[in-house]
Amino acid sequence: MGNHIYEVAQLREQVVRAARAIIKTGAISRSGHGNISLRIPNTKSMLLTSVINLEDLTVDKLPLVTFDGKVLDGQLDPVSAEIVGMHAVVYETNDEMGSVVHTHAPYVTTYAVADRPIECWYEGMARFELTDPVPVARYGPRGSAESISNISDVMNERSRAVLLQNHGILTFERDLMGAVRVLTVLEEAAELGIRASMIGQPTLIPAEMARYAQERAAEFAEQGAQHSH
Ligand SMILES: [Zn+2]
Repeated sequence: MGNHIYEVAQLREQVVRAARAIIKTGAISRSGHGNISLRIPNTKSMLLTSVINLEDLTVDKLPLVTFDGKVLDGQLDPVSAEIVGMHAVVYETNDEMGSVVHTHAPYVTTYAVADRPIECWYEGMARFELTDPVPVARYGPRGSAESISNISDVMNERSRAVLLQNHGILTFERDLMGAVRVLTVLEEAAELGIRASMIGQPTLIPAEMARYAQERAAEFAEQGAQHSH
């Protein structure tokens, strides 16, 4: 048990570092609003940020919460209690996901407000296997049963992000920094999509070229490993 407590303490520090990384990339609205969760492996519980503004996050603002909202350790403020379902639905829908990030990053949220999916028009998306259009989950008030079922409705096993109509974005991955990377890449893609629309239209990367980009990424990763011997 002592070991377990030590590991959870380390995970809390990782979440604080991830929050700093998100703020640094600017994939967050002016208010700094956002939340992060990190699943405790092989459990139905997660560390969940209990702050309004990610800049205020410290290790003591990361309660351990079950997917149905029971607080096992620490304190969850009532405003953050509303977001338990929004995070839990991702883990319940895809067992392999280990972390969820939510912000109102300005460019991706522009797509969410316009009810437009973000499609694969950017190299970074192809490289990180974000080749399917990022879908828009229909609007439902924050924390409502509708808003939560609208998220699972548009998810499949390849999904790594869902736009929340009139609200923001959820990104998720097997690990925490993966979820942060998906957010960063999609915010870049959304900014480029909007800029490209001013002078023409974004052009899509063909599916076979996206696969080629992934193969190249994997090849280089392998070569890197060989050099390190
Ligand atoms: Zn929000």
